[in-house]
Amino acid sequence: MQETLKTVTKTNTDWEAIRSQFPILKHEVNGHKLVYLDNGASSQMPQRVIDRINDYHSNEHANVHRGIHTLSQKATDAFELARKRMRKFINAQYEEEIIYTTGTTDSINLVAQSYGRKHFNEGDEILISAMEHHANIVPWQMIAEQTGAVLKVIPMDNNGELLLNEFHRLLSSKTKMVAVVHVSNTLGTINPVQEIIESAHAYDVPVLIDGAQAVPHMKVDVQALDADFYAFSAHKMCGPTGFGILYGKRKLLNEMPPYRGGGDMIDKVTFEKTTWNDIPHKFEAGTPPISAGVGFAETIAFLNEIGMDNIAAREQELLKYATEKLSMIDGLQIVGTAKSKASVISFLLKDIHPTDVGTILDQKSIAVRTGHHCTQPIMDSFGIPGTARASISFYNSKDDIDRLVDGIKYVQEFF
Ligand code: PLP
Repeated sequence: MQETLKTVTKTNTDWEAIRSQFPILKHEVNGHKLVYLDNGASSQMPQRVIDRINDYHSNEHANVHRGIHTLSQKATDAFELARKRMRKFINAQYEEEIIYTTGTTDSINLVAQSYGRKHFNEGDEILISAMEHHANIVPWQMIAEQTGAVLKVIPMDNNGELLLNEFHRLLSSKTKMVAVVHVSNTLGTINPVQEIIESAHAYDVPVLIDGAQAVPHMKVDVQALDADFYAFSAHKMCGPTGFGILYGKRKLLNEMPPYRGGGDMIDKVTFEKTTWNDIPHKFEAGTPPISAGVGFAETIAFLNEIGMDNIAAREQELLKYATEKLSMIDGLQIVGTAKSKASVISFLLKDIHPTDVGTILDQKSIAVRTGHHCTQPIMDSFGIPGTARASISFYNSKDDIDRLVDGIKYVQEFF
């Protein structure tokens, strides 16, 4: 198969050249060059990933895992390449520990429903944190309602740092699952998940990490973390939409019942009884998003070429620059001031509603996110309706940050 369709070859740290691979960043919106600072919601795809998907559709498409014919085998190889590459990318021990899903939300629902239905009983406790995305709250509430389990919440302080003393106090023999976000999409906080996992394991409690905002921005090693489950989405890491990963330890996945029933996830079907396929296929019912998986394999190669450590360093540099510049603006308050942060800056402008901030910035072609960012409980705990949020990627530039600063000043003048 065609491994890659490289459009540009570059050195690891030539950020201008890397940026130039993202066709959408060359666009003008509302008469200005686009400044895209909504990467937390969804990031952009480089040309080679777009090309790979097009090429797959033009030359290689067939259904996967079920065809004896050449095209189907080619499609299967192209699709399975993402699993091989992802195993290495997050350092999973086994390839079958990489489950394809449609994204973080799907991955968490899978664990909540499959693991939870088997293991949770009346009065058992599920421990989440105060800074979870709705995707790591609602699935647990649903399974709690179905099983009689109870949701407990680790509180945080005003900087957006988890109160670990409280976590240790809440952890008990009643706890049956800890589910915590690695990096908060709203506050940017990087949580000490290794410590959380270690403490939970002392009680024999498995831990699910919501890594939607971590895997795109830093090197994640699931074995070093000793995470039991780790969930993330392709579209937040320069990959296609509709595709995601659930990493799970082989032993746990083997013991869990299927989440969805249908084709591919079975071994033998009769009207009397059905037996299940092995992992990962036990959790992958029906025709998957094949072209997204093929494109994602290309994304992983792209990120590997730049290097996740390089990406993390670049984003930390941009975060520092943006934090300094934004902090100098009168009337601007940053929400989320943890010591350890990823490149997310939520902010409030005195007397101006976040929606108005976003609307006026859009007139200048500066794309930020406004609202509660699917974290309504965070907004409640800060007593605010929402924030404006600039989420920075490695392909952003200091010039983008300067444009944001000028845009915010323009918003202030406007009101
Ligand atoms: N968790 C976090 C921390 C997120 O930021 C998001 C998306 O914004 C999700 C979960 C849900 O991701 P998806 O919508 O791709 O399933």
